[in-house]
Amino acid sequence: MLKVLPDKITKKITDKVPSKALPITIQILAIIIVVGLVGGIKILISPPEKKPVPVPPPPPAPVAVPKYFQDYLEVITRADKIVSENPTAFKNLNEVSLMNIQGVFQMPIKKPVSYMQLRLPGDPRGYRNDVHQGTDIYGLPWGEKVYPIAPGVVIRIDKNYVPLTKVTRDKMLELTRTKWHGTPGSLTIPSAEQPYGNVLDKLRGRQVWIYHGKNKNREPVLTMYAHLSNVNDQLKVYDVVGVDNVIGFVGNSGTSGEVEHSKSREVHLHFEIFVGDRYWTPKKDWEIGKMQDIARYQELQESIIKLIPSHY
Ligand SMILES: [Zn+2]
Repeated sequence: MLKVLPDKITKKITDKVPSKALPITIQILAIIIVVGLVGGIKILISPPEKKPVPVPPPPPAPVAVPKYFQDYLEVITRADKIVSENPTAFKNLNEVSLMNIQGVFQMPIKKPVSYMQLRLPGDPRGYRNDVHQGTDIYGLPWGEKVYPIAPGVVIRIDKNYVPLTKVTRDKMLELTRTKWHGTPGSLTIPSAEQPYGNVLDKLRGRQVWIYHGKNKNREPVLTMYAHLSNVNDQLKVYDVVGVDNVIGFVGNSGTSGEVEHSKSREVHLHFEIFVGDRYWTPKKDWEIGKMQDIARYQELQESIIKLIPSHY
């Protein structure tokens, strides 16, 4: 505003002033008054400067545990403390998301795994009217050693597993088709569904779960290893495991092979990666729950081998 002032004044002086015009001194006075008034108003409008009050840092937010893991909230919170107290023992998971798991994991089996051995997360599962949430590795011998796909903390290890009976398993599967139209996954079993609730968990058989830490959005990264024939009895909840520690052994618990007492049928490792509230899959959203043609399916299988390479 001050910049304008000399120009205006100069202009007024050089103009041929008509006789009606006010004397120049009055004009200058008027300008000064207007400028002063505007300045005063500005001061009135702008609030007085405040001294910054030091804000204490917010308390750390609790880990947002996925719905499926709600019953494990306390265990996961304690496991998270173990990870954060010793970060160098674990992977940096800052950049991990459902869209990006590159460079973090390795295959849970220490022998070559071909794309042809894999069945994908996101595949349909007609026999239980639902979607497969994990990656299956077939073509493995009974008792093959299973390793965590990244360092982590054991949060569940089924040492006292009770095998499913054929009657129970068949009844659960019937209910998934006729009554539930899917496979209830919650670990909190509604009493109305006893003893057949929690089907998804039961169909996974004997399991080990590992907590790996959280990403920069504070989403927990968890993995589950299912259908095990046995677990490593030396391990217990809250033990820290690395990628060279055996956590269990391949089997067929929870499958049709188990209830038929077979050691050859349905023998495979099923493992799941959870980031935040959902399981990871290389499939696009519109591919979930559907089978793809052979070429696309192979592309997806190969993408898993690339993202989760074998180390043996
Ligand atoms: Zn599976």
